[in-house]
Amino acid sequence: MDNQKNDLGPKEEPMHSDTTKETAAREVPSQKDLEKEISDYLSKRYGGKVRVISHMLLPEELDHKRLSDGTGRGVHGGHKIHFNLKPEELEAWLNRFVVRQEKAKAILATKICTHFNRIEYLRKMGKSVQAHGPGNIKNNIILIGPTGSGKTFLIKLIADRLGVPFVKGDATKFSETGYVGGDVEDLVRDLVQEADGDIELAQCGIVYIDEIDKIASSPNVHGPDISRAGVQRALLKPLEETEVDLRVPHDPISQIEAIERYRQTGKREKKTLNTRDVLFIASGAFSGLSEIIKKRLTRQGIGFGADICIKDDEYWLDFVKPQDLIEYGFESEFIGRFPVVAVLHELSEDDLYQILKNPESAVVRGKKQDFKIYGIDLRFEDDALRLLAAQAYQEHTGARALVSVMEKALMPFEKTLPSTEIKFLLVTEELVKDPETALKGLLSHPYDHSLIKRYEEIVDAEKRDLMERIEVDVSRCWRNTDVPFNPNRLKMINRLILEQDMCLDAAQETILSRIEQIKGYEDAFFDRCGIKIIFEEEAIDALIEGCLDDPENLRTACETICNILEYGLTLIKEKTGQENFSIPAEAVKGIESYINRLIRASYRSPQKSEAM
Ligand code: ADP
Repeated sequence: MDNQKNDLGPKEEPMHSDTTKETAAREVPSQKDLEKEISDYLSKRYGGKVRVISHMLLPEELDHKRLSDGTGRGVHGGHKIHFNLKPEELEAWLNRFVVRQEKAKAILATKICTHFNRIEYLRKMGKSVQAHGPGNIKNNIILIGPTGSGKTFLIKLIADRLGVPFVKGDATKFSETGYVGGDVEDLVRDLVQEADGDIELAQCGIVYIDEIDKIASSPNVHGPDISRAGVQRALLKPLEETEVDLRVPHDPISQIEAIERYRQTGKREKKTLNTRDVLFIASGAFSGLSEIIKKRLTRQGIGFGADICIKDDEYWLDFVKPQDLIEYGFESEFIGRFPVVAVLHELSEDDLYQILKNPESAVVRGKKQDFKIYGIDLRFEDDALRLLAAQAYQEHTGARALVSVMEKALMPFEKTLPSTEIKFLLVTEELVKDPETALKGLLSHPYDHSLIKRYEEIVDAEKRDLMERIEVDVSRCWRNTDVPFNPNRLKMINRLILEQDMCLDAAQETILSRIEQIKGYEDAFFDRCGIKIIFEEEAIDALIEGCLDDPENLRTACETICNILEYGLTLIKEKTGQENFSIPAEAVKGIESYINRLIRASYRSPQKSEAM
């Protein structure tokens, strides 16, 4: 072995030693220096006809800095979870999507905001886990309401808005001992998956347990209903605070995943998740509960009971107290873990119509999307929406039925129209009443003038309505930014909604984030070549508008423009000393001719460039 080493050593050393020493002595040039060296060489050789265009990358840290400035949404990773939303802001946001349920929206917006802002506050104060103290009661919530009244919908919307992970499970699957179809610890583990493996974020997640009324002890059982009471007791600890082991013992997959993560990141993952900040929401229809409340109030006698006049039985639920839930079959310790109760009411036929009428409604937007993928524009007449709501109401499953009645009416069209030349479908009352006959009529007279006219009227009305809504909404969404709003941006938001089926919120945020992205290039440009560029508002709009369909195109456009600007502005800076440039829309429309014109101007009048 040694011999071999000696043999090779002397032969290789002289060949490389100088080069190695030289390389070590010389610093590896930066990308910028390297490009300059190559550029100098090329211009000496080809006289400025050939130049280097390199990839201009938006620095990762910059991206990150912008994100973590936080605008009320949670941002994951490290200690970067921010909550600063106020209850009224959250409530206003819920009002945009959720019809009725005013009291529930107010309670949820308030208590959930307080829960998350408290986490934020304690973190800022640097309080440790123990310092949260035993006096801190978590705002776990019980939601009472019939199927399809919006219980899950509300919580999902809130989780989305706050940027926290959300998981849903079913209390009927829990058992006293757990692991029969999964238990609450499995749900907690699912939070980590929802948070893309970010445990810190998962610890601020929301666990939604449906059908909680099914684990109330049954009054029909002789003696205590041991199994259901046992399930309640098994939930006590996780509801308050417990450490959940993230690696399920005896589960080979989770063990393999842990090894794989270690291999990828080199870090041993944290193995437990603390449920102290996890918000638990339990929900159910609680049938029979209103009877218990009614009895109590009547028992309490004339003083209180007689003062309230309740026409509809379900409105007794508004007076629910913990003692009613205990009488319903819950252990008092269990109810004690849920200090907040919110009641949702059955939606009326008109409520269902309002859901369909709401342009933010997922039901209508979802269906429009299904047709759009075949290039078919779907519109609804008002009478059709009314009839769909009436049909859904007959099913007694709340807003859930909206999807099924919509499917029933439109399925034949969804199957047939993609194979035809028909590019729009107007959903009328007649169509909802008798889809098969309407389909036959449409296929035999696809260009019926009166239908086309009705369709066009709806399209125009929706456009007008959308513009009005955007204008109203704009002040709310852009108020918190210092980014100016202008008619171009209004048009682009409109286009995103109409052409890409985005909801108003997403469309506005898309435009705002693209403006941010372009601003990021300004900063990166300065870091890279010490020249300050500012894209004029019209230039920003032209850039975004040209790449509205594909954000990747915006990146490419910015990189190309910045690379050409770098070459030209560096020359101008060398010639005139100018270091600040305002980039107009003209530059975006034709960067080559713009920069050439600037360079020529700087040569004609070296002390004064026309760029500023
Ligand atoms: P549940 O009360 O049984 O949890 P969901 O919240 O899952 O019912 O409702 C099913 C769907 O119906 C939701 O995804 C949503 O699209 C719609 N929906 C339900 N309630 C409302 C409401 N109050 N306003 C608007 N849409 C609703």
